[in-house]
Amino acid sequence: MVSEKTENVVIVGSGPAGWTAAIYAARANLNPLLYEGAALQEHYDLGRGPLGQLAMTTEVENFPGFPAGDLSGYLDNAIDESLRQYMAPHQKHGVSGPELMELMRQQAKNFGTRVVTDDIVEVDFSERPFKLKPREGDEWLEARSVIIATGARANYLGLESENKYKNRGVSACAVCDGALPRFRNKPCVVVGGGDSAIEEADYLSKYSSVVYLVHRRDKLRASQAMVDRIMDNKKVEIVWNHVVTEVLGDDENGVTGVDLASTVDDSTKQLDTSGFFLAIGHTPNTDFLKGKLDMNDAGYLKWTVPFRTNTSVEGVFAAGDVADDYYRQAITAAGTGCMSALDAERWLASQGLH
Ligand code: NAP
Repeated sequence: MVSEKTENVVIVGSGPAGWTAAIYAARANLNPLLYEGAALQEHYDLGRGPLGQLAMTTEVENFPGFPAGDLSGYLDNAIDESLRQYMAPHQKHGVSGPELMELMRQQAKNFGTRVVTDDIVEVDFSERPFKLKPREGDEWLEARSVIIATGARANYLGLESENKYKNRGVSACAVCDGALPRFRNKPCVVVGGGDSAIEEADYLSKYSSVVYLVHRRDKLRASQAMVDRIMDNKKVEIVWNHVVTEVLGDDENGVTGVDLASTVDDSTKQLDTSGFFLAIGHTPNTDFLKGKLDMNDAGYLKWTVPFRTNTSVEGVFAAGDVADDYYRQAITAAGTGCMSALDAERWLASQGLH
């Protein structure tokens, strides 16, 4: 039964998809409630803390509307001083990831979005209103509609040295970071053998002096078209049958090299590099949705209607990387976030619920 406490829309997740959904839902008078995730160290260690993957990057040069230049005056007006201490310094090549996320969060709050710093750990979509269980407390929330925007996290090798140089040469997104000055005309290493690795190596080769593509086998997993493309690229050198065992660097320069070990004999070698890019897959943050919504084999939520954000449960929508293993960009996540709020609004209206 719908009670007074039943929310119109609960948004789960706080990357570009979640905040954009919140901005649109709030402006549509849906009074959204957004769960931005719990600020737990274990979440940050896994790369799934509040504000999503962008909060762990430095400069963002490809989000329209934030050109290169000093944005500090604008940021001073828009962001509360108490929050600015959390923002990583950057070199003014555009907005930084953490700044962009705080700006989106502030914009969503300005329109009345209520934000809770906690996780949703369980859901019951078997009947309406839907029920969602926050990590804190014993009470379940009730919602007429739900938008899932929990994103995906990049897989890392799990090396301590890799963690140390994250954002200082270690990255899991060449399209996001590859054009930064630190990588220009210098060698770069990409690890992985799938389509993403090829795409990253190809992209980086536009800027780097040479790209070493390190793969643990002697055959690429990527599709033949992608393999052909990389074999034709003179700036990409494939290092077959090797794994990265250590990321080398120092405080001043960040990443300076990698240690490699052969997977076929006992040999080791070292490569000089300014960047270490991981392309060994992503993991969507959908554990709490297993068995509740349809997913593909890798755990990404399925959009069930073309060009809509519907999931397998009517009234539950998905936005951003949690349902998109293909584009995975901040701007595409924001785009589907907008779509999900419009879809939720129209669905609620069609049900006479708003
Ligand atoms: P993927 O296909 O799962 O490939 C992951 C690669 O990382 C594999 O080559 C794997 O090696 C390697 N790997 C995994 N764990 C590793 C570890 N611990 N150490 C070293 N290497 C490791 O992932 P993806 O490339 O991100 O692609 C995901 C999906 O998106 C695929 O379906 C892909 O086709 C699609 N995609 C398509 C395009 C495109 O068409 N333009 C672009 C990007 C992605 P092994 O091969 O030895 O297992």
